[in-house]
Amino acid sequence: MALTGSPAGTEHLRRQNTGLVLRSLRVDGPATRTELARRTGLAKATVGSIVGELESGGAVTENGTASTTTVPSGRGRPGKPVTLTGEAILGLGLEVNVDYVAAVAIDLSGRVKVVETRPVATAGRPPSATELVELATDVRSSLIASGHTVVRATVAVPGLVAHDNRTVSWAPNLGWNGRELAAELEHAFAGGCPTTIDNDANCAALAEASHGVAVDVEDSLYLTGTIGIGAGIVQRGTLLRGGAGFAGEVGHMPIGDPTATCGCGRLGCWEASIGLRAMLTAVGMDEQATPLQTATAVADRAASDDSVRTALAALGGHLGRGIATLAAVLDPSAIVLGGYFVPLGEHVVPAAQQVLAERLPSADIHLPEIRLSTLGIHAAALGAAEHALADVFTGAVPL
Ligand SMILES: [Zn+2]
Repeated sequence: MALTGSPAGTEHLRRQNTGLVLRSLRVDGPATRTELARRTGLAKATVGSIVGELESGGAVTENGTASTTTVPSGRGRPGKPVTLTGEAILGLGLEVNVDYVAAVAIDLSGRVKVVETRPVATAGRPPSATELVELATDVRSSLIASGHTVVRATVAVPGLVAHDNRTVSWAPNLGWNGRELAAELEHAFAGGCPTTIDNDANCAALAEASHGVAVDVEDSLYLTGTIGIGAGIVQRGTLLRGGAGFAGEVGHMPIGDPTATCGCGRLGCWEASIGLRAMLTAVGMDEQATPLQTATAVADRAASDDSVRTALAALGGHLGRGIATLAAVLDPSAIVLGGYFVPLGEHVVPAAQQVLAERLPSADIHLPEIRLSTLGIHAAALGAAEHALADVFTGAVPL
């Protein structure tokens, strides 16, 4: 099939090349046209044409200040740095959970423009989508009113998301199995904002890789710490989703204490040893309103109670054994712990890191570092906002 030269082929190529320029500016920072041509392998004339188009669309600026690293060649003007600005071009990230909904909007350069969280009072009943839809439409409307364009939205969901990124396959805490959530949001947006959904651990992993403690590595593994344990896997800067979209469902891998009964009814699941409730059983404490409040109470107790510290170190050992298994398969450069693990980091990470070192097949293999998330409760919504902009950076969405 000879697409080259045909209008569709030319347009497709142009979008791909535009995506290449945008990604280079986002990942490696501002650059002159010459430098961009070198980075991307595109002809300088092509880069010039793309930069001109992006500038008129408000995505980049080419300011008059010569780059300090650019020396006048004596042949024409020194290069001006092209900078990704795109302050008016936004991705909207949303998160729905059992007890709250959250929204984060970021611009093309990754700057956070809006952060909002609203509690959801469900009194033990499965939540409706009302709070999510209201937050999403309120935030989008106010952004549009202030001159912004919301190009895409993504919702982070605590459950399995079908490979179409539009349907909730299984979200027992929400009771939303089979719900076509993306279509519901698009309807609420009156068709003005294409919307996708993804698993919350995937979104949080993306947030860590683009804004958090995994920005310095290309391959990372993120572990949620709530009642369940889920993973988000980033390889070469991209989410690994698997055949059905369920990659990272690590909580029920049979790598925990073989005598521990899991909520799923089986023995030996990893989350039966390291999930929030397993942790509470180990330290002999009760659950509070949220995982974070629970973990903070346990951390307070650990400060003065040896038996709590010992129990948490044992949990860290189980955590490390599971991480060693995952590390052997995925070879991440960094492992990021989120959720309840964060307040308890000082008690669980040393034991986990030690077991990981002992369990690696060879001392010559690089030992991945276990890090604690610093993004807090908005991690999944922030990652969802990055997800929403992903099509811009592939060139699929024209600017
Ligand atoms: Zn299980």
